[in-house]
Amino acid sequence: MGSRSVLFFFIPFVISCSSSISNDTFVDDFSDENFKTLGSDGPYFYGEQYSGRNNYINYYPGNIPVILSIPHGGELVPVEISDRTYGVSVTDSNTIELGSSISDYMYENFNIRPYIIINNLKRTKMDANRDKVEAAQNNVFAERAFDEFHYYISSAREDIIQNFGTGILFDIHGHGPNPDGFVDLRTWIGYLLSGDELDQNDKDLDINILSNDTSIFNILNSSNHLLSDVIRGPNSLGSLFETYGYSALPSSISPSPEGMRYFSGGYNTFVYGTDSDYNFNAIQLEFPYPTIRDNQNSINAFAEAFSSVIHDYFITYFDIDLF
Ligand SMILES: [Zn+2]
Repeated sequence: MGSRSVLFFFIPFVISCSSSISNDTFVDDFSDENFKTLGSDGPYFYGEQYSGRNNYINYYPGNIPVILSIPHGGELVPVEISDRTYGVSVTDSNTIELGSSISDYMYENFNIRPYIIINNLKRTKMDANRDKVEAAQNNVFAERAFDEFHYYISSAREDIIQNFGTGILFDIHGHGPNPDGFVDLRTWIGYLLSGDELDQNDKDLDINILSNDTSIFNILNSSNHLLSDVIRGPNSLGSLFETYGYSALPSSISPSPEGMRYFSGGYNTFVYGTDSDYNFNAIQLEFPYPTIRDNQNSINAFAEAFSSVIHDYFITYFDIDLF
């Protein structure tokens, strides 16, 4: 409110300085009602690409019950969005390339694609893994991109539930070296369980953590598997990563961080993994840079492995054969 009254106060001055600027320039053309209605670019079809305003957000509908959301890989720095003044601003390098390569590998080999939602804005402009206030910091164009990002994810989730009954969103990230310079080559898998919670033994973990405290409540409630089994048993996601040549945490080999740096899942994992209105799950994946996303060879090799990992995971926990 304060900024609007200041703007209004200065309009006569600006106009008097430049006859080429018409009154229309100052019409508030970015209020909510002047953006297109969310969803007006739909309905959405597999194989097509959809873009939000100014191509800040891309949506690629898929045909399997898997969503890849990529909130931190963007590089766009439009001047209409001022830099965020607080919060983390590090880019997760090559995560867009990683998601695209996974999709292309699946398409070329199995004629399937995951649903993909990409934030192309650099994190200095909009952080698509925070609540709206911290994500967009009051910039209307960043807020619009935030709304589009989540609208597309919600549409994908709706589509998946209609067609498959359940599914998983993987929120794709990258972690850098630890503060002491040590590079942890494990993929950190986030189910909203903290390092301290994971430090418990299996028995205590299964007693102390309710399925609804995790982002995979739907998997836990619809199967006979115990939490410890799903997150670090032999068929857990982390152990499947290990099976296909990539170390991961948690897994049967690395059951807990044991005090090391670890990310347990952020805003997107919470929003899409804990909503009891939907039979849906969310898992945050924090990939190391070396061996997975440092160059196209690494990316291609990982895309193949990841396809096998999620194939086996869906067989085990959903009895769904992706390919
Ligand atoms: Zn990230």
